[in-house]
Amino acid sequence: SFHKSKGQHILKNPLLVDTIVQKSGIKTTDVVLEIGPGTGNLTKKLLEAGKKVIAVEIDPRMVLELNKRFQGTPSSRLTVIQGDVLKTELPYFDICVANIPYQISSPLTFKLLKHQPAFRCAIIMFQREFAMRLVAQPGDKLYCRLTVNTQLHARISHLLKVGRNNFRPPPKVDSSVVRIEPKKPRHEVNQKEWDGFLRICFNRKNKTLGAIFRQKNVISMLEKNYKTVQALKLSQEGLLKEADTKVDFSNFADFVDDQGMEMDDDGVDDNDEDEMDVEDGGPSEFKDKVLGVLKEGDYEEKRSSKLTLLEFIYLLSLFNKSGIHFT
Ligand code: SAM
Repeated sequence: SFHKSKGQHILKNPLLVDTIVQKSGIKTTDVVLEIGPGTGNLTKKLLEAGKKVIAVEIDPRMVLELNKRFQGTPSSRLTVIQGDVLKTELPYFDICVANIPYQISSPLTFKLLKHQPAFRCAIIMFQREFAMRLVAQPGDKLYCRLTVNTQLHARISHLLKVGRNNFRPPPKVDSSVVRIEPKKPRHEVNQKEWDGFLRICFNRKNKTLGAIFRQKNVISMLEKNYKTVQALKLSQEGLLKEADTKVDFSNFADFVDDQGMEMDDDGVDDNDEDEMDVEDGGPSEFKDKVLGVLKEGDYEEKRSSKLTLLEFIYLLSLFNKSGIHFT
């Protein structure tokens, strides 16, 4: 009796389990993190391949089952942690291999990408469409905010298509195994700033950036932020004069409290419908400033659906250089 809500679809094809383990390139010295081991079919092969497996499983019945199946395996080789992986502080690991419940795909991916020290790679089974979003390239239909957000921090490649009939009970969707390799060194961004920026760019990913950044509500939001930053700078300059110290406040982003990425946001689309007020707010000085930035980088006629990661990074840096912020 499996729990639908916990996404308990057990991998029943032993050849497939072997293939996944082979493709993951586990070394005999590796500490392997497994998420959602279930009844332990994958765990068994991971134990054969690596030095140690740490498995995080939310369902106490599954944990009992695992402990029974692997009794006699020393704790130096297998540790089962009972808990929700999203709420668990992850230990050090070299590689992550997992057949996860699909409802945690997005928050788990972001959690892994934030994890320090960075692991070598993660081999994860996702719902096919989610996987295709992760590996999408500019111009692909599934290229979206999730794509850019994850590709900022990792190289992602498609490893294996997996049909639904490899699982018991079979899920309603097909799956794919992908390989996620964190970029080293990490690309440090103000995550809130970056996320705010991408939300605007992808709210209407097929519109030109010129049209997106002409919208009344976008302009007024950016103008509000701009004034806040200017006011803060002024007051800090005032304070500096008083104190006569030499602190560099030029990089405002460093002073914004970064609470990281929203965990409950699947980053998946990115409503092309009327989520946003499209009204053009008419001419204003601040609007000219914003459009000036787009012109400077030759972005006005471009569309987010076709912009590369580097183009996004560069555009955000141009905005920030002009004092325009997204948080
Ligand atoms: N790995 C097994 C296999 O391939 O046969 C089972 C995979 S099954 C798709 C997902 C497993 O993740 C289930 O055992 C479920 O209880 C567990 N799970 C669900 N949500 C979880 C969470 N938030 N944290 C940890 N484990 C979770």
